[in-house]
Amino acid sequence: MVTVGVLALQGGFAEHLGLLRRAADHLSIDQGQQSIISLTEVRTPEQLATCDALILPGGESTTLSLVAAQSGLLEPLREFVKISKKPVWGTCAGLILLCEQASATKRGGQELIGGLDVKVHRNHFGRQLQSFVQDVDLPFLRQEETEKQAPFPAVFIRAPVVDQMLPQTDAPQRAIEVLARFPSNGEEDNIVALRQGNVFGTSFHPELTDDVRIHVWWLGQVITTLREG
Ligand code: GLN
Repeated sequence: MVTVGVLALQGGFAEHLGLLRRAADHLSIDQGQQSIISLTEVRTPEQLATCDALILPGGESTTLSLVAAQSGLLEPLREFVKISKKPVWGTCAGLILLCEQASATKRGGQELIGGLDVKVHRNHFGRQLQSFVQDVDLPFLRQEETEKQAPFPAVFIRAPVVDQMLPQTDAPQRAIEVLARFPSNGEEDNIVALRQGNVFGTSFHPELTDDVRIHVWWLGQVITTLREG
């Protein structure tokens, strides 16, 4: 059994669980077997300890890190990501927490978990009113180079972008892979999906769509990694 947790302190955890459930069904249909995936909400270090992989949802990253600190979860989360190197996926505020550095906020710094050797720019596209849905091409969803993939309806809500690479720890094993930019013809500083070893991040919210493709892809990666490990 593979236990996949969703950090359930604040933000869009219920939506992630909904899409994970559909993705797990999808995978078990594909593989013609009973689901080997069990899903759980994580609010305590004990619950985290039962997980093989974890999603950090969107929400508000300062609140998320404050509540994580109050729940005694910050250090266990850092260990989960950086020492045990278990698969993790952060969306939006979750991505911010997984970056080593974030652009300063008015009230100064915030506690991060880290794991991605990059700097992230919070609220890159502006405030709530500047939120938008945009079709984004996600080549990593293709199983073969030539396969046609419909663009993904990416929901950006006060979304961050990764705008700076930092010196990489334990490269080349954990090289940073840029998986998507928005706009796609833009410069270095508009990374909206990336992976570094066990850590995957998207600055948009797949859990707020009906499109299960990224959840299916990530769960597939999790299962492969755990089988190989
Ligand atoms: N801008 C928010 C933050 O800095 C993230 C927004 C989101 O998760 N939708 O935490």
